[in-house]
Amino acid sequence: MASKQTARQTGESIIRRLHDAGHVAMFAGGCVRDQLLGRDPKDYDVVTDATPDRVAELFRRTQKVGAKFGVVLVHVSGMQIEVATFRVDGDYSDGRHPDNVTFGNQIDDARRRDFTINGMFFDVVRQQIIDHVGGRRDLEDGIIRAIGDPDRRFAEDHLRMVRAVRFCARLGFVIEDQTLEAIRRQAHLLRTISPERVREELRMTLESPSRADGWRWICSAGLAAHILPGVPYDAQDQATVATRIAALPDNAGFTVVLAALLASLPPKRAGEVCSKFTSPNYESRGVSWLLTQLPRVRNPDNLDLADIKLLVARAGFVDLCALLRADLAAASLPPDPFEAFQTRANAIPPAEVAPPPFISGDDLVARNVPKGPIYADILTTLYHAQLNDEISDRPAAIARLEELIPRA
Ligand code: ATP
Ligand code: MG
Repeated sequence: MASKQTARQTGESIIRRLHDAGHVAMFAGGCVRDQLLGRDPKDYDVVTDATPDRVAELFRRTQKVGAKFGVVLVHVSGMQIEVATFRVDGDYSDGRHPDNVTFGNQIDDARRRDFTINGMFFDVVRQQIIDHVGGRRDLEDGIIRAIGDPDRRFAEDHLRMVRAVRFCARLGFVIEDQTLEAIRRQAHLLRTISPERVREELRMTLESPSRADGWRWICSAGLAAHILPGVPYDAQDQATVATRIAALPDNAGFTVVLAALLASLPPKRAGEVCSKFTSPNYESRGVSWLLTQLPRVRNPDNLDLADIKLLVARAGFVDLCALLRADLAAASLPPDPFEAFQTRANAIPPAEVAPPPFISGDDLVARNVPKGPIYADILTTLYHAQLNDEISDRPAAIARLEELIPRA
């Protein structure tokens, strides 16, 4: 078997195998949508009328990943494809997952899916789209529409509300009116589901270059005030955030996007919001750091050479520049501070950004300076002077050190 098979070919070979064994099997969901849009699908999912046990019998390497949901991971040619048995979802009591599922037919399976554009199948053998939910027309019209009664669908699984927004942003689609109204009615339920999942959907929505569209949909659907725990965006805040995130570079990462979203909060509070939102530590700290530095770089004339070098040396420097620029745009201010900051930063030769310090703690120990916070004070002062080119070599640094050591 060629190991260079694409995911699509692997999926097709699995479908043919199921078909040859007398089963119905098709591609389903996102990959069918993406195929019709001429986009490269992220992954290929297969649905079938074969039960998980039967799927396990037919393929050599399988793994029951969602036993409760009838999903089997089939490993072929170094790839894994999810094969799911047609099913009907039972009741939802946690606002996120069905309490139980029963196997059903393909129409049941199409109807349990979230949006019409995600509810289609592709029959590989007949080379035919199977559309039980009107997905093809909505795809052509650029519409996100819940399958069935939207209120019921969002009450079952609240995360679908953020998925709607994510697909709008990614595909440049609009949310159909009834679907949008239902989201507005149920937006508050977002607070009741696990923030990890909301964060992940929000990340995918806002890391994309069309993030400002995503944010506008979040606002228009009434989700803004519920999406980040404890941040009540009023209409003005929402508009400012839209301009700010629109002005970030296309490839901006989630840390700087979050900073742009939380820029009206005190930095420490913004970091706490991120932690509550299950951001990893580097992200919460990165957001606080960016928001602490933002007011400083808005007035770069107040920064000396050492201040600038210390900022350039930080991993968050590129994000800080992007945030400064976006923040000025959001405040309708000219980009002058950004340009001044960039020009000064670019003028620093790389070797001079973070040179090794002339003086270390050992030099203080050797001079019998008693241990305490004074070490950090003296070392910081000396390094700052070194970065400012006030001290050009170690002898000069030692002379300055002698002046700084308090005399008993
Ligand atoms: P992506 O391109 O981001 O992977 P996708 O549509 O493939 O988008 P997945 O999360 O991979 O999304 O899910 C695959 C399919 O499973 C969806 O197209 C949809 O049919 C169904 N699905 C996923 N999540 C839900 C949900 N919360 N409720 C109902 N159906 C869902
Ligand atoms: Mg997918």
